[in-house]
Amino acid sequence: MTLFEKIAARKIPAEIIAEGTEWIAFRDIAPQAPVHFLVVPKHCIPRINEATASDAELLGTLLAAAASTARQEGLGDSGYRIVINNGTDGGETVPHLHIHVLGGRPMKWPPG
Ligand code: 5GP
Repeated sequence: MTLFEKIAARKIPAEIIAEGTEWIAFRDIAPQAPVHFLVVPKHCIPRINEATASDAELLGTLLAAAASTARQEGLGDSGYRIVINNGTDGGETVPHLHIHVLGGRPMKWPPG
């Protein structure tokens, strides 16, 4: 079981803020913005690089969940950033696909 599968199964505590049949959203343990949560599929895809065409519907569901949870968190008008880190150079540290949603402050571009 991956770390995020354990969170989805409530075997590891996390502040869960939204949930659907196929996904869960919870606050990041080390927030990088005033609002920082992760949207994670309950079924593990290790990273976006391993996603296939058969995952297309799930990937769409995850993006829609990120947006609806961002609105729920009050970010709909001020804006927010969505990030997916992939592999070593991408900064991935947990090998279970997750969408970062960050908001509550202006973001800089390009990222470091
Ligand atoms: P990555 O670096 O793989 O894109 O993002 C992994 C994220 O998971 C990091 O932002 C990290 O703070 C978060 N994280 C790691 N372990 C835990 C945990 O046990 N609980 C929660 N809520 N977040 C975690």
